[in-house]
Formats: sequence, C-alpha cells, structure tokens
Amino acid sequence: MLFGRKQKNPIKIPDKGVVEWKYTTCGYCSTGCSIEVGLNDRGEAVTSRGVGGAHVNQGKLCLKGIFEHELFRSAGRGRVPLIRERRHEAFQETDWDTALDRVAGEIQRIQAKHGRDAFAIVSTGQIMTEEFYTLGKLARGVIGTNNYDGNTTLCMSSAVSGYKRSFGSDGPPGCYDDFEHTECLLAIGSNLPEQHPIIYWRLRQALEKRRFPVIVVDPRVTMFAQMADIHLPISPGTDVVLLNALAHVILDEGLEDRAYMEAHTSDIEAFEAEVAKWDPDTAAPVCGIDADTIRNVARTYARAGAAMTIWTMGINQSTHGSDGVVGINNLNLITGNIGKPGGTSLSITGQANAMGTREWSSCSGLPGYRQLENEEHRKEIAAFWGIDPEFFPKKRGLFQTDIFPAIETGQIKGLWIIATNPMTSMTNTARIRRILEKLDFLVVQDAYEDVETNEYSHVYLPAAVWAEKQGCFTNTERRVNLVRNVQPPYADSKPDFWIFNQMAKRFENGRKIRFPETTEGAFEEMKQLSKGRMLDYSGMSYEKIERNRGLQWPCREDDEVGAPRLYTDGKFQHPDGRAKLIPLPWTDNNERPDDEYPFWLNSGRVVEHFHTRTRTGKIGNLNKFSPTPYMEMNPDAARRLGVEHGKYARLVSRRGDAVVLVQLTQRVPPDMVFVPFHFHECVNRVSLGLLDPHSRQPAFKQCAVRVEAIEDQTAAAVRNRAARSY
Ligand code: SF4
Repeated sequence: MLFGRKQKNPIKIPDKGVVEWKYTTCGYCSTGCSIEVGLNDRGEAVTSRGVGGAHVNQGKLCLKGIFEHELFRSAGRGRVPLIRERRHEAFQETDWDTALDRVAGEIQRIQAKHGRDAFAIVSTGQIMTEEFYTLGKLARGVIGTNNYDGNTTLCMSSAVSGYKRSFGSDGPPGCYDDFEHTECLLAIGSNLPEQHPIIYWRLRQALEKRRFPVIVVDPRVTMFAQMADIHLPISPGTDVVLLNALAHVILDEGLEDRAYMEAHTSDIEAFEAEVAKWDPDTAAPVCGIDADTIRNVARTYARAGAAMTIWTMGINQSTHGSDGVVGINNLNLITGNIGKPGGTSLSITGQANAMGTREWSSCSGLPGYRQLENEEHRKEIAAFWGIDPEFFPKKRGLFQTDIFPAIETGQIKGLWIIATNPMTSMTNTARIRRILEKLDFLVVQDAYEDVETNEYSHVYLPAAVWAEKQGCFTNTERRVNLVRNVQPPYADSKPDFWIFNQMAKRFENGRKIRFPETTEGAFEEMKQLSKGRMLDYSGMSYEKIERNRGLQWPCREDDEVGAPRLYTDGKFQHPDGRAKLIPLPWTDNNERPDDEYPFWLNSGRVVEHFHTRTRTGKIGNLNKFSPTPYMEMNPDAARRLGVEHGKYARLVSRRGDAVVLVQLTQRVPPDMVFVPFHFHECVNRVSLGLLDPHSRQPAFKQCAVRVEAIEDQTAAAVRNRAARSY
C-alpha cells in the first residue's frame, strides 16, 4: 500500500500477510475501542486495526491499541504454575492441580485457624465481566471472605462513592455523544489527550463541527489545558472549594434551574447554607483561582443550554475525592444538567473493565449493584446461587487500601492478588514490601510472571491475557463490548475464568453452587440477575453485542439497542426517587509543602504506558518513547537548586527517595514537580496516599517533597537509597 507523494519517497506499509481479521475490544483503557486483530496464514497475530463501523472509535486507535497484538508473545509471560515453600527460595515449576490444591489448602488452613476474613482477595479492573461475576461468586459464596476488593479502589472508588451519595447508585449517567450536544465542557483533573486519546478525538470532532467553551481545571499546563479556552491552574486538593464557589455564584445570581431542583432533588436548604459560605472572594485564596474567573466560569456554565463535566484521577485520587464527585453532581443538579443530551456528570474510567468490576464483581456488595447491607438483596442472590443467605456478611469488608494495613497488624494472614501489582501501584513502596513479607501465604495470578509483586509470592498462577480468552468489558459510557478469543492462551497459562471455576471445586459451597463451564453461560446468569434493574443486560447477547459493536446498558429484553443516558426522567435511585444535594464543608487535610519539603508532588500518566507497565513496558514500540522515570520541573525552581535538564536528580519525601531524570518545563508551576506514576521503584517510594474517608481512595497526587541535585552522575551515585531505611 502506498501513501504520501506518489512520485517521490512514497511511504510504504509492508504487507503483513493477513489472511483473517478477528473482532475484539481493546484491553487497556476504558474508552472501549473496537479492534480487529490480523492473523497470518500460521494463525499468528501480526497487526491490529480499529473497526470502522464501531460507534466508540470509528476506525481509530491510539498508540497502545495499534500495537496490542504484540502482547500475545511479549516477554515475561508466565508459562506454567510456579510453587515454593518459602518466599525468596527459587520457584519450582508444577502442574495446575498441585498449584490449585496448594492454594485451596492454604486458604482453608488460614480460615480454620484465624477466621474466614483472615484470607483476603484483591483483584483488578482488567479481567472480563464474566470472570468478575465468577470471582464474586467464589469470594462471596464459596470462600466466604469479606475482605475482598479490587484495585479500582486506587482509581474509581471516589466516582462510585460520589455517584451513590448523589444519585443513590453507581453508574455514569452520560455518554460520548454528549460532546455533540453540549454548550460547555468543564474537565477537572483529566488530561484527556494522553490518558484517553480516542475520547479526546471524539471531543475534537464535536468541536470541529460546532464551537463551545472548553474549561480545563488542572494544576499543570497539560496538553488538554493548552487547547482549552480557559485553564484554571487550581491549587492541589482544593477542587471542592472551587465547586462550592461555582455553585455559590450560580445561586447568588439566580442562574440555577430552580424548577429542576424542586422537582428532582432533596436537602436543598442545607446545601444552600453551606454554599453561602463560599463566595468567590473567600474561595480564591484557597483554591488559587481569582474571584472574577470563578464568576466568569460559573456564569458560562450556568447559562449554557446544556453543560457537562468530565473528570479523571485529578478528582478521584484525593482526600476529597468522593466530595469532589459530589460537588460536580451538585453543580449539574442545580443547573438541570443530568440526563439530557450534552448535560451530564461523566467520570472517565481508568482500566478497560473498571466498570465491569463495579457492576458484577461483588467487591463492594453483591452482583448487579446489589448491597450486602440490604436483606432482600442477600436473599435474592443466595436463592439464585443456592446457598444460605446467612453465609453472606451484612456489610462490606475492607477496601484494598485497608487490607494492606490489616496485614500489617496481623488481622489478615493470606492474600490472593489477581492481575494487579501493588509493589508498584500502591503508595509507600517500602511499607508495601514489609507488608507482603509479613504474609503467611501469598498467591499471585497474573499473565506476567515477572510482575514485581510476584517476588513475594508462594504460588504463581499464569493467566491468559486479553484476547486469549472471551468475555465482555464495559466502557466509560456503560457500553458492553465483546472480547473475542483471538489466540489460544500462551503455553500452559489459563483464562482467569477457568482458574476460578477450578478453585471453586475445592470448597464445600463450590460443589453446591453451579459454575457455568463457559463465559457465555455466566453471561446468561448475569442477564437473569439484571432483568428489571437499572443495570439491565437482559436484551443483550454475544452475537447482538458484536453486531452493534457494543451495547449500552440498560438494554432491556425487547430493546434494539441500549439507552445512551441515565436519569432522563429525573427519577433517581434513592428511596424517595430524588437526587441529594449534599453540603460539602472543606478541611485542609493534606501534607503540604513546607521549608523542608517545599514542592507539591503531582503524578499522572503518559500516553505510551498503561498502569505499572506490566504490559506496555514489554512493547518496544511503546517503551522506546518513554523508557525512563522522569520529573517535570519548573526551570526557575531548578536554577535555584542547581538542578539541570537531562541530568538525574533525587526526589525525597518523609517516606523515601527516588532518582529521576529531569525535564525542565513551564508546564509545572515553581512550587510543583510532576512524575509519571507507571514506573517501579519511583514515585510511590515517596508518595503518602492519605485516604478519602468515603471511598478509601489514596491521594496519590498530593504530598510534599524536596529535590536534591546529584553532582556525581555516574551509575553508582544515581541509585535509589535502600528502601528499608525508611
Ligand atoms: Fe485502547 Fe484506550 Fe487507546 Fe482506545 S484509547 S485504543 S481503548 S488504549
């Protein structure tokens, strides 16, 4: 195929010898792009392309999707189960029965000696929805531990908590099509072009047809901030103050949609009383945005016919994460911007199937947004699974961020980690290392045996990756899409679905509960359990999902396609059918820069990498663009400290230190440094991670550090210090 000038130096795309294209869905971020993987005549995956007719991505893919077929044979994949008596001994290869027997035996031993909750499970946002449903069945109905959570606590639990508090249920109410209808977009703590490039492309498409104001709130001059009409460089951790001040101006100037508020919300008076305290002149010195700009933004948002807010980790990963989400919902409720085209609160999710775990994993409750605290829900699920409802706990157990401290105190003795990597992803790496070393038993289930956390395990279970198996993902806009099986599992790795089913057989309740043999069988159970609920899958089938390139829920039995928006009738999931307007008092509760540690440390993502680089660090065409931990630093601040561009410097906090390559840039203010979070033994050696009181999500983005120049740039001098000294 030839592109470019036909006569001179045309660009040649080599023929990859594709003989068949197979449909699937991208397994990285939550955008939910439809992908076709090209196979050659030996059945090898040789290329990937976007699916032209897919609603989400319309033929486009970002860098990660383009090279996703390289995952199947990337370095570090686990071939066979591994086992060892003591941590840090050499692993021995073993067969599946031996490995699964050992894990089941250790779970039973620990539970018999210390109680059912002494064994914990921490999973992920990256396996299929049917696998989440099956894992939930195993954890809640068979093993029976209440200390079971997903790594989504590190990214989306503030959004979940905020939606539940405001609307009575989780579930993002909007969709990508809202860009086509909105008259104003407010984006808080989201660097869309790098984190969700295809959602950003959808926004650009809408903007090319029709201009509307884009307002970006971010302490850093991100790529998104650079294209915005208005950039608000907010002080870290003060989003709630800004949101209260915006609401103050709207109510003070009579710009609210009073009819909507009175018809569809509750607790108006208490909300108005709190907001009355946050006039722009009071808020400005706290949040760092001048009063006139706050007024201007509030008027622009309220006067737009339809206005929407999107957000990502800048809101969620904060000690005020849940309140930040509620503040966004408050703003949209008082302006009547929920459930209408172009008017919404839309959390942009992180992992490919973070939504699937929220819906079906039973981490925070029971399947299909049911709650452990609700007796009817417990009875319903117990009857469906065929067990005694008393087997279920009556309230949810520990979040992931509380499970690790509970290991430290000896309350939890054993842990099963599934497709997540706390040695890199959790704050305060030195503490996590000590915690993992304290466990009586650790099993790691992952597609990669070289994942850092596996260094501390007793048993390693090699899992199939992405399209080596079949099942569904739900994307940011509630669209369920199908991951078709493109390749057989690598070596003797197995789908997570198979592993959960085999584990269940080794427990008493696992022989009572039916575990379907196929993911499609599990999907049929989910359809039955969702029928008539807000989260209704009953009108879906694998064939219909693939034909439509994804279906949004609710999709009821007779629906041709799903519904693009929730709450279009103004009826919410609280018992009175109303949304709650919630007052948000604000306290300054972060570690802040001081004389000893004078910089804010901010962290985030780069376009080439995903999470802890377990996958993208192995893909040459991604890793070569971003191979090294680096730090963005303002040139004025660097000059004062003798820190130079392109040299290594040391980042130090009260928790630890990390060596980073310096990139001088005006993107960060003089009192802040920014480090991508993907790299092992880097930003989380220094991060603090205070927890949000509602969502238990860590404040990854707010702590204090100092920067030290390193004079001697030789390899010996630019090492991290020994982590155990902290
Ligand atoms: Fe995959 Fe997300 Fe990129 Fe789409 S935007 S190709 S879903 S990583």
